[in-house]
Amino acid sequence: MFSTAFLDLPPLSTAEGEVALPGSKSISNRVLLLSALCQGTTTVHDLLDSDDTRVMLAALRQLGCAVAQQGSTVTITGLGGRAWPTPAIELFMGNAGTAMRPLTAALAVQGGDFTLKGVQRMHERPIGDLVDALRELGCTIDYLGNEGFPPLRVGQPQLRLDKPIPVRGDVSSQFLTALLMALPLAAQERDITIEVVGELISKPYIEITLKLLARYGIVVQRQGWERFVILAGSRYQSPGSIHVEADASSASYFIALGAIAQGGGVRVHGVGADSIQGDIRFVEAAQAMGAQVRSGPSWLHIDRGAWPLKAITLDCNHIPDAAMTLAVMALYADGPTTLSNIASWRVKETDRIAAMATECRKLGATVEEGPDWIRVHPLPAGQWRAASIHTYDDHRVAMCFSLAAFNPDRVPVRIEDPKCVAKTFPDYFETLFSVAPADAERIPVICIDGPSASGKGTLASQVAARLGYHYLDSGALYRVTAHAALQTGLVLDAAHESQIAALAATLPVRFDGDRVLLANKDVSEAIRSEQGGMNASKVSALPAVRQALVALQHSFRRLPGLVADGRDMGTVIFPDAGLKVFLTASAEQRAERRHKQLISKGISAIFVDLLADLRARDARDTSRSSAPLKAAEDALLLDNSDLGIEDSVQQVLAWWQGKTPF
Ligand code: C5P
Repeated sequence: MFSTAFLDLPPLSTAEGEVALPGSKSISNRVLLLSALCQGTTTVHDLLDSDDTRVMLAALRQLGCAVAQQGSTVTITGLGGRAWPTPAIELFMGNAGTAMRPLTAALAVQGGDFTLKGVQRMHERPIGDLVDALRELGCTIDYLGNEGFPPLRVGQPQLRLDKPIPVRGDVSSQFLTALLMALPLAAQERDITIEVVGELISKPYIEITLKLLARYGIVVQRQGWERFVILAGSRYQSPGSIHVEADASSASYFIALGAIAQGGGVRVHGVGADSIQGDIRFVEAAQAMGAQVRSGPSWLHIDRGAWPLKAITLDCNHIPDAAMTLAVMALYADGPTTLSNIASWRVKETDRIAAMATECRKLGATVEEGPDWIRVHPLPAGQWRAASIHTYDDHRVAMCFSLAAFNPDRVPVRIEDPKCVAKTFPDYFETLFSVAPADAERIPVICIDGPSASGKGTLASQVAARLGYHYLDSGALYRVTAHAALQTGLVLDAAHESQIAALAATLPVRFDGDRVLLANKDVSEAIRSEQGGMNASKVSALPAVRQALVALQHSFRRLPGLVADGRDMGTVIFPDAGLKVFLTASAEQRAERRHKQLISKGISAIFVDLLADLRARDARDTSRSSAPLKAAEDALLLDNSDLGIEDSVQQVLAWWQGKTPF
């Protein structure tokens, strides 16, 4: 996940490959509860790992259900109609509405002595309509704080099943879902009828509930969207094993990607055209705009079809979330696209109509909007502007504007606060990058070169962290090469150049955070010693060794960008880098820093020896014939002698910002 202040997407053009998407939140928590209620053991595959599902799992465990988890697979042994094994307990629901509502209903119908609490925000989210319906049914529920809101206490019910149970449908469809999942527990002897009061919103989510109930053996007779009858004799039965579909709203970005990008198409795993999620109908909208979509059981394959995309006019009431993606696709269309009946956009994470209009305009587009519609005009080549997209703490704004990086003018796009995608898809950008490679020369590189102990490693890794870029410590490659050579019994001199180079060319080296692994063995400590530096300096003077490490260094140039530190990053390895920094600090200052650093680590060190070593390494690095240490002609010099690390980081970031169009 990118936790940076912003993420700059370089221009992208192709997409090809396969993605597995995270599971649907709505399906995950329903399936967990149904598995706990049913008769038999259920293995749930591909469960979403999110705050909401963690809350539900913890609650089920506390209630005494047997839950075993291995990665995204969870096995639950259901109660099969028996009472909860732990009938008196306090449960913490965090801010998970998809856990709070259905659990309240299930616990209230079964009975016990339960307290359900959450975070402060949960205590501000209404639950009165559900409590009213459950009380109508004979459940015992008390408010422990404010009337109509959690926390709640649930007691023993005196169920009255003789008359229809009214529930409001116009505030949250989750109340109806909660009742639909709880009432089969009470429908042994007679039919139970639920009557919806008010116009039912979010019908696709009720469809998900009904389809999942059917998988667990419960048939609900639906009369329009007003009456739902749970038949007498209903009994929850485990389906044995069940797969959580990938989130169909998340799939919309990759469906759009396949329609927009050149290349061999995109295959999405985990959700197919037979999905039970309402947002799967985004596929039809994408097809109308020109996407070529094939599908099978739980997969979709998307290719570019019509190009430019075809403008559409669409009532989007059935796919409110995924429809945001259409607004960005509209930038690539052959005429204005109008999305209507989207009033709900105004009251989501942010006012999504205003947000989409504002951000599309930043890119250069003409956008019209009304109370419940938006019209996006296409943005022809030559008119795209590099824009910093504000994301309003709305995951969907962030995800759909990433598609603007495919613009024909090859301008980059900045996504502010990229971590907001964590709400439903923490690894969204990583997943996008895995199927949308950029040409190497378009991937930004910042080089930070300088002599030993100039602090370039710390500086470079910090700059990389702020930008969300990859980091290459090229010195470590020379250090590891020397280490590997010595282990093989080679002497580090010119006589063994070709053998050391052969080793370097196939170095099984891997970086894992701060650790450096050689053939899966942690060699970080060994190579970072003073001796390790001297040895590296020796092998690095051998031209064949330097040559052998070029391809490996180039392979670090991956999306979204790279910060590389070393001696010849700007001169030899990445001569086209967008920013080159050369650190200059006197040998005395560097020796003093290194001295302090070693002493603080409890390693004894003698200043004059360190100074002599540094000078020797400087001399070898600057005088060698192959890639000697020197500033690239276009490098900016940074004397960090009197700068703290944060000052240096800010200086480099300021230089970099000056090179971007944002
Ligand atoms: O940067 P570090 O001190 O880890 O580098 C160890 C040695 O590797 C340096 O003294 C230098 O001789 C060599 N090196 C190099 N070219 C690089 C990085 C390091 O020659 N790009």
